[in-house]
Amino acid sequence: MFFEVPDWKVGKPKTEDEVLKARKEEELKLKGPKPSKKVTFSESSSKKKDADKSEEVKPSVKSLKVTKPTVKKDESEKLKAKLSGSRFRYLNQILYESDSKSALSYFQEHQDDFLRYHEGFQEQTKKWPTNPVDIFIKDLSTLIGRLKDKEEFVVADLGCGEGKLGLEIGALARKKSKRGVVVHSYDLVAVGDHVKVASMTQVPLLDASVNLVVFSLSLMNTDFTKALLEANRILKPSGLLWIAEVESRFDGGFAGIDGFGRKLWEFGFQLQGSMDLSHRVFVLMRFHKSKHVSKVTSDVTLKACKYKKR
Ligand code: SAH
Repeated sequence: MFFEVPDWKVGKPKTEDEVLKARKEEELKLKGPKPSKKVTFSESSSKKKDADKSEEVKPSVKSLKVTKPTVKKDESEKLKAKLSGSRFRYLNQILYESDSKSALSYFQEHQDDFLRYHEGFQEQTKKWPTNPVDIFIKDLSTLIGRLKDKEEFVVADLGCGEGKLGLEIGALARKKSKRGVVVHSYDLVAVGDHVKVASMTQVPLLDASVNLVVFSLSLMNTDFTKALLEANRILKPSGLLWIAEVESRFDGGFAGIDGFGRKLWEFGFQLQGSMDLSHRVFVLMRFHKSKHVSKVTSDVTLKACKYKKR
């Protein structure tokens, strides 16, 4: 290829050697200076020194500063919380919109969802000033303290969740040597040996064998009327029934709460004292069994409890 040299500094070259030399010089000029060792990554100072000396700089992979293109930590935490929040609301909906048989088979098939549900449930109750199950544990502790050492006192916690009531009352009874105290904890999934799987509509306990039935936020399924009848069946005459429910589930404010309390008369339960409305989020009701009832003419209903998006 002929190479035109535009800018002679020392006049026209004459010999072939001169032409070749001039071409070479011009070639170099046009190519620009030899690329310097471009180092775009960080190097240790000793490496830098070496780079200056040698022609070829081999980048050391170790010394590369890598910025991971990941989502920021707090953003991924937020995303996780959002997902588990919507999963919790979905599972909550299943519990409120299915009958007990379907709820039992769903959670038996998807036992991990039970744990997820309870994670979300704990998150919700943490926001409340008090948790109804803790109030029941406190009241039951007082009641147990008054029992004679061998006096029988059988409790059925229906829809016990993680079985906190059974664990704490069991420990207290052992500590105080109240040997007649037994707590049966039932739910759709057993999170441990202290919980048994059973639907509250079919409790594996004998008729008139229980002193206290607890439904703490657990009257969820569409057929919980059956669970109330089941409570009547297993309770001893004059046995106790304690219920905690979220206030917003009662239609029409106080009238709704009062109506629910009176409706339970049809189920053979008489209200003891007044309802406890002092906790804002939930209502506590205490009844005792006044008569044996095995069927009712109409169901008792409550609205589903909907938790807000976080
Ligand atoms: N009583 C516990 C848990 C409340 S969450 C507490 O107060 O902390 C409500 C629980 O009721 C859930 O664990 C749910 O699985 C259970 N539940 C709902 N329907 C049920 C049914 N038909 N039989 C047994 N448990 C039921």
